[in-house]
Amino acid sequence: MRLVTFRTDGGARLGAVIGERVLDLAKADVPSDMLAFIDAGEPAWERARQAVQRAEANGGGAELLPLRGARLLAPIPRPRKNVFALGLNYKEHIAEGARARGSEMKLPEYPVFFSKVTTSVIGPEEPIPFDGRLSERWDWEVELAVVIGRAGRDIKAGQALEHVFGYTVLNDVSVRDVQRMHGNQFFRGKSIDGTCPIGPWIVTRDEVPDPHHLRVTTRVNGITKQDSNTSYMIFDIPTTIESLSAGMTLEPGDIIATGTPDGVGFARNPPEFLKPGDVVEVAVEGIGTLRNPIVDRWA
Ligand code: ZN
Repeated sequence: MRLVTFRTDGGARLGAVIGERVLDLAKADVPSDMLAFIDAGEPAWERARQAVQRAEANGGGAELLPLRGARLLAPIPRPRKNVFALGLNYKEHIAEGARARGSEMKLPEYPVFFSKVTTSVIGPEEPIPFDGRLSERWDWEVELAVVIGRAGRDIKAGQALEHVFGYTVLNDVSVRDVQRMHGNQFFRGKSIDGTCPIGPWIVTRDEVPDPHHLRVTTRVNGITKQDSNTSYMIFDIPTTIESLSAGMTLEPGDIIATGTPDGVGFARNPPEFLKPGDVVEVAVEGIGTLRNPIVDRWA
């Protein structure tokens, strides 16, 4: 299933995308909120699956809303806890960063985790509010993101994917000078308002047989900036989940961004950054494309 959170006049609702249309899952007798739906577990997921199959079988009819024109929010508009993220998880990205800084390339021995605050999350098509008074160095990072479906602690790599609910696309927008300003603790430069676009939907795990062979791309104003593949991750998803959950409980609805490949703006020659008027599109093969305009927050 491709699950969306969409806005109606009556509030945010859970839907499933069928072709170019959306099925309102209120008709499936499941919670209408994505987090509550994930919490509800396999019986609710199965009811939703059956509702999708019924709608597909009878052609949907008038009960389906056109996807074009639907007001999509981030699939989980306000996660319960910070979005977990992996830094330095693609070798070519580490290499380009070292080149740009004139330092020696060093591969991490363990996954490098940081987080993004929940207030940084925005949805598809929502403007990224560029704040030139804070910084001029706003950068893009396409990432495959994992959504946890089943709680666990000390999860072993061999069982890790059983804890995954699905996958989505995340743009880990990074304000580079702020990212480096604070003792190289990425947290603040990664948590500025509007710097965590997520979406356009969550694709459930059953529809993504191999998350480690997906093309990942970024386009800015239609020009390709990043073009790589999740097969180049240093720490794959099971290893990441094993490491993150060691002694720390992961819960349904937790989001883990799995790192970005090479082609980010600060490491380009000359460096390039996002500016008001730009449109940034990040895409993961088989999952979707997430598009956001950059808008001057002071204009
Ligand atoms: Zn990142």
